[in-house]
Amino acid sequence: MKYSPPKRLFELEESATLKASEKANEMISKGIKVYKLDVGEPDFSTPKKIIDAAYQAMLNGLTHYAPSAGIPQLRRAIGEVYGVDQSYVIATPGSKQAIFYALYSILNPGDEVIILNPAWPSYKQVVKLAGGNPVEVNTDEGFYPNVDSIKKRISERTRAIIVNSPNNPTGAVYSDSVVKELSDLALQHNIFVISDEIYEKLVYEDSFVSFSKYIKYEEGLILINGFSKSYAMTGWRLGFAVADPSIIKQMAKIQGHTATSPATFVQAAAVTALKECKDDVEAMVKEFSERRKIVIEMLDKKGISYVKPKGAFYFFINLRRFIKDQDPAEYLLEKANVSVTSGAAFGESYSGYIRISYATSRENIINGMNSIFKAIGV
Ligand code: PLP
Repeated sequence: MKYSPPKRLFELEESATLKASEKANEMISKGIKVYKLDVGEPDFSTPKKIIDAAYQAMLNGLTHYAPSAGIPQLRRAIGEVYGVDQSYVIATPGSKQAIFYALYSILNPGDEVIILNPAWPSYKQVVKLAGGNPVEVNTDEGFYPNVDSIKKRISERTRAIIVNSPNNPTGAVYSDSVVKELSDLALQHNIFVISDEIYEKLVYEDSFVSFSKYIKYEEGLILINGFSKSYAMTGWRLGFAVADPSIIKQMAKIQGHTATSPATFVQAAAVTALKECKDDVEAMVKEFSERRKIVIEMLDKKGISYVKPKGAFYFFINLRRFIKDQDPAEYLLEKANVSVTSGAAFGESYSGYIRISYATSRENIINGMNSIFKAIGV
């Protein structure tokens, strides 16, 4: 039978970030040396305490189906962090899945969702997958949202705005006043705020402000978070959402008919992550902070301008001055054997930019950056 995908998949694009890193992996498999500054995942191993807890959970029989919203111990532990009871919490296989369930639970076909560019590419695709229309609004030059630009794009069909601080790809950390302004705007217009706070613990300057400070779950906040970035647990696939119980109920319904739940022993191990791994997280954040300093020093020494990231583990840099006729990520893979992510993946206006991830060894960062400098002639 000749297969043709259904209409709703025509517009869905592949994950640009994964695609770029696949190309580099292909070169590596051919024996070519490539400095990988592309992937957004910690190079650290998951803390041993978490691995032990998962093993123990398996030995204790936590190898069966779990309730569709997650095991009560984990939902309670997450609830404690956010000051809510477990009915406000769902555990999901990765925060990506939580974002999808959230959108699927609130969108009618054709509803609009505001996305602040440059933005993590999956937001736009997942909005489409959930039947909505993404409305992309660029942030200002410092990568902070401009409330007036957002206001202009709010329509009768606007159902939600997705915010992400600390931000992928820019590293921007929204100040208290930005969080308040955006929250007020959403409350005024009665739109949901989906706040992706997955990089919450990775902040090196200023402090993280959660949208939960200014919007209640009952007022339309859907908070997304996960274990991938803070606890070096990308492969475990565990995220969660905190939202009004009426929304959590719908999300659990979708999960019940699809993933069922995240792996039961993974959920048990995550309780240990939340309760016993403060020191491990601090050590990882300290190392990220040192690596960030290395990148800053190297860029400054060469006089390359950039907006200083305050959180996450990325730099988003405009290279238009140096690379004129080619996508800079393609150029750097060819000419410098460095794999970075093309800015175009995060929004059309950012085609001359690259995203560098410093979630990799200092040696790799230093060698990769030097190779970039050589290729752009600085
Ligand atoms: N949100 C943002 C902003 C991300 O950068 C990522 C991963 O790169 C995710 C969500 C997905 O994380 P998870 O591994 O929990 O699905």
